[in-house]
Amino acid sequence: MEIAGAGTYITGMSEASALEPADRVSLIGMDRAELARAVAEIGESEKAAKLRAKQLWHWIYHHGVDDFARMSSLNGPLRQALADAYTLARPEIARLQKSTDGTRKWLLRFIDGQEAESVFIPEEDRGALCMSAQVGCTLSCRFCHTGTQRMVRNLDAREIISQFLVARDSYGEWPSPRDGRMISNIVMMGMGEPLFNYDNVAKAIRIAMDREGLSISRRRITLSTAGVAPLIERCGAELGVGLAISLHAVTDDLRDELMPINRKYPLAALLDACRRYPGATNARRITFEYVMLKGINDSPADAKALVQLIAGIPAKINLIPFNAWPGAPYECSPTEDIARFAAIVNKAGYSSPVRAPRGRDILAACGQLRSHSMRAPRSAGAAKSPPPPAPRAAIS
Ligand code: SAH
Repeated sequence: MEIAGAGTYITGMSEASALEPADRVSLIGMDRAELARAVAEIGESEKAAKLRAKQLWHWIYHHGVDDFARMSSLNGPLRQALADAYTLARPEIARLQKSTDGTRKWLLRFIDGQEAESVFIPEEDRGALCMSAQVGCTLSCRFCHTGTQRMVRNLDAREIISQFLVARDSYGEWPSPRDGRMISNIVMMGMGEPLFNYDNVAKAIRIAMDREGLSISRRRITLSTAGVAPLIERCGAELGVGLAISLHAVTDDLRDELMPINRKYPLAALLDACRRYPGATNARRITFEYVMLKGINDSPADAKALVQLIAGIPAKINLIPFNAWPGAPYECSPTEDIARFAAIVNKAGYSSPVRAPRGRDILAACGQLRSHSMRAPRSAGAAKSPPPPAPRAAIS
């Protein structure tokens, strides 16, 4: 498969191999117990099913195989029975774009026609895959492009982990390398709010962390939340991944305006949850993300208030220059103002890196993701028909 250059794109990859057949159940996204049940359903004994599930797991997540015929440790009739009942196909790549800085963005189309984006951000010898949790978003943060799209639906565990498999396929990074991986990290920072889809996100993250498969250490996984305070502690206790909080404002008044979720979980509740986050230590600090909006939240007084607000929390502050999108109501703070803000935070003892914008030319930077997916109309007739195909707007 070829990748389009900056500003161009490939659509309708109809020649792509093994598109998801709607009539077969996918094994991707199942946990081990579900895999064992799936194998039992096609005739393996309970006892054999457990071993078969282990073998399948290895083929699916260690070798990245999407064709049962390649599973050489399974006998021929079983491979055939699996292929008749199940699939390992990936979602359709509706579009793949490559930025001048090497960032790649996939628009994935799922069986029901809904779409979500994921982004790979390469560093010199490794990189992070930014994955989506939902199609659209309920949050409506005013500075975020995804927020202008209405919530369509949650992604299921299969759709979430498929984003990782697709990225790995594209780098040919199979079997899961032990060291020197290109796709070394996962950030749940794409479309949607991961903690509003906790069960599916947790299931996908557990698959990613499994040492007999993709084997991405929890230290290399970060989940970003706009502040669903009641679920933050659970996320730390159950998954133990790194936590990032989209803070963006230091007063409830401003945060209410920028991020409506603050009206439900105000700053005090949010910071309280952060103080209780299991595993937050100086070695594993909580990241506070802070988007720099010109004249809105970028004054020296804001920087000082920020430092006071997070006092006592092992933290680093990630300053994100605002990434514009068509019709955005804000501008990015001038470089000098960002530097001044960073210096104040830094002087107070917090690391305050400024996040280099990546993939802006293909709308792949923080807060720029958006798909054309729409919620189907509620009328009975319309509910039965598939959603209309997404318009393929050209991106210059
Ligand atoms: N819903 C989660 C996951 C999204 S992460 C969350 O809010 O944390 C995406 C990050 O990019 C968030 O910190 C978000 O606030 C930030 N962001 C959104 N729009 C942005 C923009 N236009 N420029 C820079 N950062 C933005």
